[in-house]
Amino acid sequence: MIDFSNYEIWFITGSQHLYGPETLKQVDKDSQAIVDGLNLDAKLPIKIVFKPVLKSAEEITNALRDADASPNCIGIITWMHTFSPAKMWINGLSKLSKPFCHLHTQFNRDIPWADIDMDFMNLNQSAHGGREFGFICSRLRKRRKVITGHWQNPGVHAKLNTWMRAAAAWHDSKSMKIARIGDNMRQVAVTEGDKVEAQMKFGYEVNGYGVGDVTKFIDAITDKQVEGLCDEYASQYTLQKGLEKGGDKRQSLCDAAKIELGLRAFLEDGGFHGYTDTFENLHGMKQLPGIASQRLMADGYGFGAEGDWKHAALVRTMKVMAHGLAGGTSFMEDYTYHFSPDCPSVLGSHMLEICPSIADAKPTVEVHPLGIGGKEDPARLVFNSATGPAINATVVDMGNRFRMVVNNVDVIEPLAELPNLPVARALWKAQPSLEVAASAWIQAGGAHHTGFSLALTAEHMEDFADMAELEYLVIDNETRMREFKNEIRWNDAAYGVGGIRA
Ligand code: MN
Repeated sequence: MIDFSNYEIWFITGSQHLYGPETLKQVDKDSQAIVDGLNLDAKLPIKIVFKPVLKSAEEITNALRDADASPNCIGIITWMHTFSPAKMWINGLSKLSKPFCHLHTQFNRDIPWADIDMDFMNLNQSAHGGREFGFICSRLRKRRKVITGHWQNPGVHAKLNTWMRAAAAWHDSKSMKIARIGDNMRQVAVTEGDKVEAQMKFGYEVNGYGVGDVTKFIDAITDKQVEGLCDEYASQYTLQKGLEKGGDKRQSLCDAAKIELGLRAFLEDGGFHGYTDTFENLHGMKQLPGIASQRLMADGYGFGAEGDWKHAALVRTMKVMAHGLAGGTSFMEDYTYHFSPDCPSVLGSHMLEICPSIADAKPTVEVHPLGIGGKEDPARLVFNSATGPAINATVVDMGNRFRMVVNNVDVIEPLAELPNLPVARALWKAQPSLEVAASAWIQAGGAHHTGFSLALTAEHMEDFADMAELEYLVIDNETRMREFKNEIRWNDAAYGVGGIRA
């Protein structure tokens, strides 16, 4: 359900008529060579489409208008090959609504010391052409990514790759549909928020459904379909004793499979990209969806528990950004601390719903009682997370703006076996330390729910935050508590405390 194959990034080159037709012909060639080189060698997730070099305000306005109107174009790369007087860009840029990235490169990597003359200088003017362009972008208060370096440099490719993924997620966000099945877990604050404002800001829509809207689909599932899915479970996972055909817990597995099939049919029927549920609103459902939510996430759906629509949307956004990358992405919750001085760490989990894309080995399907919700024992996949660098990200509604907070973490092996813990889990060390990371997160009002990813970096989230014009706070090895608290206060001033939304 995530597909980049029709997406395009347009490559737009700025110049002017001053240099004469010969130079401009060469500019076109150089620009085409950069596009071909990037498409062939940079291993980018989305194809770049060359557009003829722009020399006048009219051409710029038309090109940017066309980019905005094209359904396949999800963003543009701008490159100032030569000096392009930036008053020419005001009209086009001020109307541009799609994300753009300023690639601050030049065609030749090195200065040819023995041969350099004014012809060479005319064809390699990004050093000042990019500054003129940067001024007008900043003057217009346009959020964009600026990437500096030679276009054949792998570091430049990596930054372009990251930005393209954010652009794909931003494009997806604009038409995302989240089903809120049931309402919010009662009295919980952080999972609430302004859904109208969220739609204005992120583009996604969140609409409420009764559990009966889903149970209608569950009730229509046949026994044959249920048996088929149970066979699939048996082939993909290890079944706990008693879940096999004829086993004493087999009915619980069948009930879970029926819920998955019905929920999937409901989501497909409505064209949804994500959903929330809550254990307090399950009328007519035998179990809280466990394995269903886990497997739907693995297929690319966003999920938020307890009515948490902001994190359902965030998980979907992170799934889109991570498309095709190694490492999984899941809904997550900071669950329990290990405060031992030897290895201060966080055990992340949820009562059921952790995506098996992060599993380090074949998961086990298990059925255990759930202490809350008063429903039958739900089936869930149990596993440890793979290890390595990861991020936790959250979006909260601050009343006058949405704030994104990201923490870099390092996932490690659990320090011992966890034979009695019947849920999937990840153990991580937070950067720069548990003490600073948790204090900073709490000072920022970050949620207990997160989007967790072993595939993405903070840079993906930052690029996305720029596109959505979110407040963005990162907690990493550079974070110092006093500066972080000041950053929050300064941001309050920048966005206007209690003022109109930014
Ligand atoms: Mn929760």
